[in-house]
Amino acid sequence: MELSDLPPVSLPMPWHNQNWTDLHGRLANNQLPHALLLVGGQHTGKSKFALGFSRMLLCSKPDGAHNCGLCHACQLSARGNHGDFLWVQPEESSRTIKIEQIRNVVKFANKTAGFGLRKIIVFSPTDSMNLNAFNALLKVLEEPPTNTYFILVCQRLYGIPQTIRSRGQVVRLVTPDSEACLLWLDQTTGSRQQSEKLLSTAGGMPLLAKQIFNADGAGELVAARQNLSEFLRGEFTMAETATAWSDIELGVFLEQLARELQRQLEAPTAAQLRSRQGRGVFQLLDETARILRAVHSGANPGRQLALEALLLQVRRELGTDPHGDKIRARRGAIEL
Ligand SMILES: [Zn+2]
Repeated sequence: MELSDLPPVSLPMPWHNQNWTDLHGRLANNQLPHALLLVGGQHTGKSKFALGFSRMLLCSKPDGAHNCGLCHACQLSARGNHGDFLWVQPEESSRTIKIEQIRNVVKFANKTAGFGLRKIIVFSPTDSMNLNAFNALLKVLEEPPTNTYFILVCQRLYGIPQTIRSRGQVVRLVTPDSEACLLWLDQTTGSRQQSEKLLSTAGGMPLLAKQIFNADGAGELVAARQNLSEFLRGEFTMAETATAWSDIELGVFLEQLARELQRQLEAPTAAQLRSRQGRGVFQLLDETARILRAVHSGANPGRQLALEALLLQVRRELGTDPHGDKIRARRGAIEL
């Protein structure tokens, strides 16, 4: 998440406007809970919501429901160095928020707000915290220091312990339908056709689609998709395919694998469906869906491990191994 070099005013995604208005209403009535759990789909803008709302809470004279973009507090938050704002995310090369980071949070929560207004602490993604970190956080949530607000961003409540949930209020952020995503993407691409293509490449996730459009990630993803379909025909090795996908989100890989497998079922004969290979495709689809569900519900399986285990299973079920029997099939389901 980009936390510096921000535009003067931070607005939510258009599909989150109602959520924003509701929450701002609570603030205006002095009913903003000190801990919020923002729940929303992958790549739909929930961290952006948390960031924008935090900036509004820090602003010294908000312009209606948004930060003014002009005051000293807004200038500092745009540069990512407002002293009363703490953004907690997994450190580089790590996938989890660690207990040392929570110790830092406790220290921060107990000091006085430099601007004398509020202190805001955002955790994103909260799903990535381990139990020790949750327990340390619980202590500070049980006796929150005055004027200190905790915003916990997560994909599913599933991974958040009940003790933490009961200390905050859940806000379910709206998941945009594809028309809303396309309307928003059109502003960037200027072409409905291109928006549709991007959204499908990104597995329906609008912010990822824009990221692909903006970055050279597009080329990488297109190449990885091509590679996967050739892998299924036995023209690429597992190692080559695993490498092609190594920097791409596991969820996107799973969606793409499911799409490729579905394609294999498009027009086969009944006999083909009953064949060993036909049954293999169904088993693979089941397994892909199982992992995808787990990923969507906040599980964080090791990406490389899950990727390789699935590719191996493809080889086992569908044959087409360029290395003959060199690859020994490993039995057993993927640990989640
Ligand atoms: Zn301001």
